[in-house]
Amino acid sequence: MLCLTSSKNTINEVVKEVNQYRKNIDLVELRIDLLKEEEKLKAQEFPALIDLPVILTYRRKSDGGAYTGSEKSRLKLFKSLALSYKFAYVDIEEDVKTSTFDKELREKGVRIIRSYHDFEDNQKDLISKINRIANKGDIPKIAIMTRNIFDVYQIFLAAEQLEHIKEKIIVGMSQAGIPTRLLYKKIGSLLMYCSSDEKINDLGHLNARIMDELYRVREVNENTKIYGIIGDPVMHSLSPSIHNPGFKQIRFNAIYIPFLVDNINIFFKLAERIKIFGFSVTVPHKRSVIPFLGLINREVKLIGSCNTVIRSRNQWKGINTDYYGFLDPLKEDLDNQKIKKVLIIGAGGAARAVVWALKSYNCKLIIVNRNEEKAKALANETMSSYDKLSRASSYADVDMIVQTTSVGMMPNIKETPLKDYNFKENQIVYDLVYTPKLTTFLLDAKSKGCKLIYGWDMLYKQGKLQFEAFTGYHYPKSAEIFV
Ligand code: NAP
Repeated sequence: MLCLTSSKNTINEVVKEVNQYRKNIDLVELRIDLLKEEEKLKAQEFPALIDLPVILTYRRKSDGGAYTGSEKSRLKLFKSLALSYKFAYVDIEEDVKTSTFDKELREKGVRIIRSYHDFEDNQKDLISKINRIANKGDIPKIAIMTRNIFDVYQIFLAAEQLEHIKEKIIVGMSQAGIPTRLLYKKIGSLLMYCSSDEKINDLGHLNARIMDELYRVREVNENTKIYGIIGDPVMHSLSPSIHNPGFKQIRFNAIYIPFLVDNINIFFKLAERIKIFGFSVTVPHKRSVIPFLGLINREVKLIGSCNTVIRSRNQWKGINTDYYGFLDPLKEDLDNQKIKKVLIIGAGGAARAVVWALKSYNCKLIIVNRNEEKAKALANETMSSYDKLSRASSYADVDMIVQTTSVGMMPNIKETPLKDYNFKENQIVYDLVYTPKLTTFLLDAKSKGCKLIYGWDMLYKQGKLQFEAFTGYHYPKSAEIFV
């Protein structure tokens, strides 16, 4: 079940919030602590205003809520609302002693969620806490602050040991914990919380429509294959918006999710444990992933960088779809030998794929980079020329300029690595940055009449190639990128 956690401060606004996401959710958590004082008493009327089950929650600040008053008055109001028996569930913090009240609720069929919030992430007594609560017939809810991929791994391990408890809620809080939210059904969690916010907050709360329509989390079952993208940062990635709609269109039972990975070693342990079938790799892991691979293809060997990993006959195989994804929009011009001399801006992981791809067409390359040593190393490897980024404007007689740095990427959209370059009308100008689509770098080139190639074109093509490697099927023409 997907549960919308209310975020508004009047009952009318919460009703509107629920109606907006009605088709994406199964129940609603009414957060009394977020309501204005005069609205709190009206909470009793709320369940009758919507045709969904409601969880009653009155959260203290120490548990991540907004209530700062006395415990006595919190429990007084909470009990009077709960004993109206209009709420299908009530959420009571694990440390609150309420035995007679609990009994009355159970007798009337109100389900009790006993919640425990662990902001320190010590995961202390996690297993025994859940077992103890479940033994009373209540639903244990444990929300744990996940600082990194190791904490996420620990949650999946704990979930295995708690498989026998059918009704429980386990949430990994923070952006690192997002896999625990998207895979809540794999963890055996009864429900997962979502929000009406468009943006993901620090606790990793995702929007209801995104969870339901992009990730289709409610359809995940034991046969659903897990795919994803690893990186740090990773939440900006558009790859889930390419792969998930593709899976849906060809009816492939799979989900593709972001993993914020600070430790590649632990990620591989997690990938083996939860049987990840394949994943994309982004900054900063494109090189560090290689020692973990049993097989690598020609491009990975050549470039020394891997952006796609697939499980192949019980080992991990690395390929690089950036290489062909980059070449795809240039095919005609390269085949017609219109591109002979190219200025490459940047010498990072993406530049490596670009340089080797252009080398396969015998292009003459000049690599400029802020860190000249890195430009030199890549140039020496590929028999190219190199220079400092600040000298880029002296290379005017090139057929194409390829921008491979992260400069100009959201949110720094006004920036460009080439401030005073004199673009010429006959040049092709290619920016690998894809958010925004039209970067300041491309805008400057556009004003001089250059032919533009967008990072989005490359992303889409390399994503389609990944999709083929993941599923064995072509990316469906009819799939619509999720926006
Ligand atoms: P990377 O390995 O971290 O390399 C980053 C590059 O950007 C380096 O050359 C670095 O120069 C340069 N750089 C960073 N900040 C700079 C600044 N303030 N001024 C000048 N240069 C700066 O990253 P990557 O994997 O190559 O990715 C780079 C970009 O390509 C990202 O925006 C990524 O999203 C994009 N990309 C797009 C696609 C696609 O399909 N469209 C595919 C792959 C990558 P130094 O060496 O001097 O630090």
